[in-house]
Amino acid sequence: MYQVKCIGMLTSGGDAPGMNAAIRAVTRAAIYNGIKVKAIYRGYKGLITGEIKEFQTQNVSNIIQQGGTILKTARCMEFLTEEGRKLAFETLQKEGIDALVVLGGDGTFTGARIFSQEFNIPVVGVPCTIDNDLYGTDYTIGYNTALNTIMEAVDKIRDTANSHERLFFIEVMGRDAGFLALNSAVASGAEAAIIPEIQTEVDQLEELIQRGFRKSKNSSIVIVAESDATGGAIGVAERLKKEHPEYDARVTILGHIQRGGSPTASDRVLASRLGAAAIDALLDEQRSVMVGVVNDEVVYVPFNKAIKHEKDVNESLLDVLKVLSI
Ligand code: ATP
Repeated sequence: MYQVKCIGMLTSGGDAPGMNAAIRAVTRAAIYNGIKVKAIYRGYKGLITGEIKEFQTQNVSNIIQQGGTILKTARCMEFLTEEGRKLAFETLQKEGIDALVVLGGDGTFTGARIFSQEFNIPVVGVPCTIDNDLYGTDYTIGYNTALNTIMEAVDKIRDTANSHERLFFIEVMGRDAGFLALNSAVASGAEAAIIPEIQTEVDQLEELIQRGFRKSKNSSIVIVAESDATGGAIGVAERLKKEHPEYDARVTILGHIQRGGSPTASDRVLASRLGAAAIDALLDEQRSVMVGVVNDEVVYVPFNKAIKHEKDVNESLLDVLKVLSI
């Protein structure tokens, strides 16, 4: 049986609150098990250029509460090419790294799967994205924090909406996934959520209007997921102006405020569990998997599955929203 002796660890794709807590967990769980840790800076880019530093336990002190990623993150086009990945592999050989732990989302795992196959190297992924759009895990690291950030922002906008008796469309992140929109709508008592998942079957804006959604209210808040399918909050507001000029809507796009900030307790616990689970996965001789949680149990999900399948939003929450917004 081959035991991993030295891992490389990197963060890639969009940053998410809780990445640092996961970096801490990966580092400490590895050291606890007698495995060396080499931190790779700026995602796959640093793997190609060799921006690497060996981490001891104190390198991850005092970071559990910090948003962002101390390893920095970058998008790396070179890693999409065979030559780029070959350079990355040469770095691993030079550094004596015999397995990788990658923290990121869908794209990060797509690259990881190819790399693992091409060079026969074990790679384990830790799901970090505020969008929660990864199949095979109930939650991704960063999602809970982003949800709370959105809820707090919407609470503030609600004060203005109430005072001026206005309708607001508030756009939240999600990259064609409605988890943040739907759950933040319920959590902030919004009147409705417009999510990409059901756009082809239901004209959500028209349905809202037909419901007479402002009849008994002096203000209304509708959460809109960013999406090409609806055009996001701006697209929905433009449609409203054209088709129902009797309504006067304001648009707020929350933007990058949703990605930052100190992680919630829930994200810190998830990051700690999954970071430690990534090392367990390597000790269990897993080679090309994402670690996740399903029904509060840690699971290993082959990259293939995590990447290819779509995770469904819980559409019954739309009914809850409808019932509670009368
Ligand atoms: P987020 O969900 O926050 O966007 P992500 O991991 O999906 O995170 P991407 O920008 O899609 O972020 O991917 C991160 C990096 O993974 C890319 O910059 C690239 O280096 C690598 N990558 C993505 N797709 C591939 C691929 N098909 N082949 C090789 N590498 C890839």
